[in-house]
Amino acid sequence: MELKPLNTLALNCAATHYIEVDTCAALSHALRFFSTEKVTPIVLGDGSNIVLRSSNVAGCLKVSSRGVKLLSESAGNVILEVAAGENWNNLVDSCLAAGYHGLENLALIPGTVGAAPVQNIGAYGVELSEFVDQIKFRNLHSGERETFNAADCEFAYRESIFKNRLRDATVIEAVRLRLSKKPIINCRYEALAKATAHIDTPTPKDIRDAVVKMRRSKLPDPQRIANAGSFFKNPVVDVELVDSLLTEYKEMVNYPTSDPLKRKLAAAWLIEQCGWKGRFEGQFGMHEHQALVLVNKGGSSGKMLLEFADGVRNSVFEKFSIWLDIEPRIY
Ligand code: FAD
Ligand code: NAP
Repeated sequence: MELKPLNTLALNCAATHYIEVDTCAALSHALRFFSTEKVTPIVLGDGSNIVLRSSNVAGCLKVSSRGVKLLSESAGNVILEVAAGENWNNLVDSCLAAGYHGLENLALIPGTVGAAPVQNIGAYGVELSEFVDQIKFRNLHSGERETFNAADCEFAYRESIFKNRLRDATVIEAVRLRLSKKPIINCRYEALAKATAHIDTPTPKDIRDAVVKMRRSKLPDPQRIANAGSFFKNPVVDVELVDSLLTEYKEMVNYPTSDPLKRKLAAAWLIEQCGWKGRFEGQFGMHEHQALVLVNKGGSSGKMLLEFADGVRNSVFEKFSIWLDIEPRIY
């Protein structure tokens, strides 16, 4: 099976064994098949956060299950169980329409619900982890069912146990979310505060609309230009390094973190300072409106894309002594 149409960076890669599942029974069957073949498949959602470096992989398991169930309702909250193959942005919009709040800042993030906990998706000052009640998953090798409470998931900034300790070991089947029946308005993120400043009392829909408008104005649509969103993580570095860099680069964007000894830098700013914003080498380049987004204008090789990315990383390291980590998962 050719995976090029199934990854938003549009990289060429063929899977020897490819199975798409949309029910629990089909998932059980697929897991038995891969186990018998001794293949650990790539678990695939919408392919918006992966880099396919290899031109061939042994197996790929695409999760396409659908369904949203209202499990419980109290005066203030609801608990929804959402199948892993549901589209994330459709869920955000349908929750808003139903009066279930919290997810508005996470509007328009591409991908599936099942992938969302893997990197604890976040945007505009909100992270998925704030709303996770439980994650239901299978052991990728034994097929056994397990349930984690939010506290078991080791959620952190764009991280979770599924991306680290349990990497290549789980298939998330469903995500249980605890949402509020009362509006939650979070405009602390500077760009969002500015975008809603003209509204006296913003509603959840105002927040969702402002986020969608900002994202559409800045981010390339993967349907039109291949990309995987932010290609590098924002580095979190020691305060001493930040202070020493600030003596030379007074405008350097930096933010506090929960650790007073560390600060977060904007990788996009570092990349732009190295002259990469809007710059291409061959088919690969950093986007003209958002320097953190690596775009592919027709390349097909994941290896070549990663060579380009290393060029960007090397420049940043030479100028700032900071090595950028790649955010999407590389296969
Ligand atoms: P995939 O790319 O298919 O998979 C990503 C990883 O999750 C892989 O390791 C895969 O094995 C694993 N995975 C997928 N499904 C499952 C499952 N059911 N069980 C177990 N593991 C699974 N991310 C943000 O956090 N914030 C943003 O604002 C944001 N904006 C983006 C904007 C653009 C234009 C793009 C292209 C990407 C953006 N992303 C953002 C990254 C991406 O959308 C998210 O990481 C998203 O959750 C990936 O979903 P997916 O279904 O495409 O996952
Ligand atoms: P932006 O507003 O131009 O800001 C640049 C960077 O500064 C962001 O990465 C953000 O960090 C950080 N930042 C800005 N204001 C902040 C604050 N008040 N406190 C802490 N950090 C702050 O960013 P953008 O590119 O337009 O993206 C907007 C949001 O969408 C961001 O949250 C970003 O993470 C998210 N996004 C993510 C992806 C992805 O693939 N992961 C792709 C596109 C957009 P954070 O990234 O930590 O928020």
